[in-house]
Amino acid sequence: MKIFNTMTRKKEEFVPLEPGKVKMYACGPTVYNYFHIGNARPFVVFDTLRRYLEHRGYAVTFVQNFTDIDDKMIRRANEEGVSVRELAERFIAAYYEDAAALGVRPATVHPRATDHIAEIIALIQKLEANGLAYATGNGDVYFDTQKYRNAYGKLSGQNLDDLESGARIEVDEIKRYPMDFALWKGQKPGEPAWDSPWGKGRPGWHIECSAMSMKYLGETIDIHGGGQDLIFPHHENEIAQSEGATGKPFVRYWMHNGFLNVDNQKMSKSLGNFFTVRDIREQYDLEAVRMFLLSAHYRSPLNFSREQIEQAKAALDRMYTARDNLAFLREGAVDRPADETEAALMEAAEASLKKFDEAMDDDLNTADAIGAIFELIKHANIALKPGCAREAVDAAWNAFTEMTGVLGLVKPASKEDDAEVDALVKARAQARKEKNWKESDRIRDELKARGYIVEDTAAGQKVRKA
Ligand code: AMP
Ligand code: ZN
Repeated sequence: MKIFNTMTRKKEEFVPLEPGKVKMYACGPTVYNYFHIGNARPFVVFDTLRRYLEHRGYAVTFVQNFTDIDDKMIRRANEEGVSVRELAERFIAAYYEDAAALGVRPATVHPRATDHIAEIIALIQKLEANGLAYATGNGDVYFDTQKYRNAYGKLSGQNLDDLESGARIEVDEIKRYPMDFALWKGQKPGEPAWDSPWGKGRPGWHIECSAMSMKYLGETIDIHGGGQDLIFPHHENEIAQSEGATGKPFVRYWMHNGFLNVDNQKMSKSLGNFFTVRDIREQYDLEAVRMFLLSAHYRSPLNFSREQIEQAKAALDRMYTARDNLAFLREGAVDRPADETEAALMEAAEASLKKFDEAMDDDLNTADAIGAIFELIKHANIALKPGCAREAVDAAWNAFTEMTGVLGLVKPASKEDDAEVDALVKARAQARKEKNWKESDRIRDELKARGYIVEDTAAGQKVRKA
């Protein structure tokens, strides 16, 4: 697989540090609000990367943090008259719900900054010992960028001179140089605080990711991801802290997704041009949002509009129809060798799997991977009829479920759901046999209320998701 590495600005062959294992970290949400569709992009992208790496046989350990202490958390908690911890609890629960509706699996670990204060303090002490951090005496501790001059800026391709000329020190900061950044912040009135060697205070933002990445994944990891806005200063600072402490490379492959835009402007909470995933959920199945987010390459900018979501929904519907067709055909399949058309489909299924892998191997080209799924659907529609050879329909089914599964699309119908729908369909077949049209229509309406559409075909009833 090739991955575009932000550090080298090149697509590179992906070789994990340890054969067969991948250690990856993605910067997660600050939990002071519901997340918006822009935030959803990295969640969906890195979930898909993880699924694909697993499909390629890697054992993946995936860490995604919750930032549960920062200025925004404190402000919002004060506004609402709740503790920062309570605020975090609420929006972490909401994260899990919204992420699940987007088909985003929970990471292996979701560490929270405030549960890792000891690790954070230890890391800052290590930086102090290495001469890379200084305490100001008022409870703050800063990273000393001057002592790290030569290595600072390599991810974002900037040097300290340029950065310093454009920066200034805010009045309430007692730091030595403009690009120095807070590792620890002394307590201000009304703020939550933890004991530390520098007095009561709380961690700065960047340090949590260094500390938690090292704790769960080790000093050097394979992949670190996030949105492009994190390249500078967040990831630059993570590198300075981590490599400054250990002297070892922190990350082998840096991956950054492009922005989700509204009218060519980044969707963001501060600009107010955002739609939370909660809002959108009232109108659209979030699976359509996942489809939309995967319809473009993850590094390209992507413009949000309702039409785009509608288009994604239509494409997703075509996938569901294909799944239901295949499921229906499998039920009536016959154990016989494939005929010529069916044999051609079996080859097409192989070919689509290969195309899918090639697309995903090319820096996670999900757009082309979706194309490979539609090619398979086209071939299956041509080749398969009721009474088709089992080996042919199975080949198409297996390829289809494999590919959609890697993209986290097309949910398998739940067993419970299946059994109930099955019972209704059987009851309806009986009603029709008895020419009890009223009952047959009643059951059709009941299925509809459950989100299934039933059609009467020459081969019997055909059920699909609405
Ligand atoms: P935050 O909660 O703001 O720290 O953001 C969580 C994740 O969402 C980070 O990886 C950000 O880079 C990413 N992100 C924020 N806004 C956008 C956007 N408009 N498009 C794509 N990614 C974004
Ligand atoms: Zn981070």
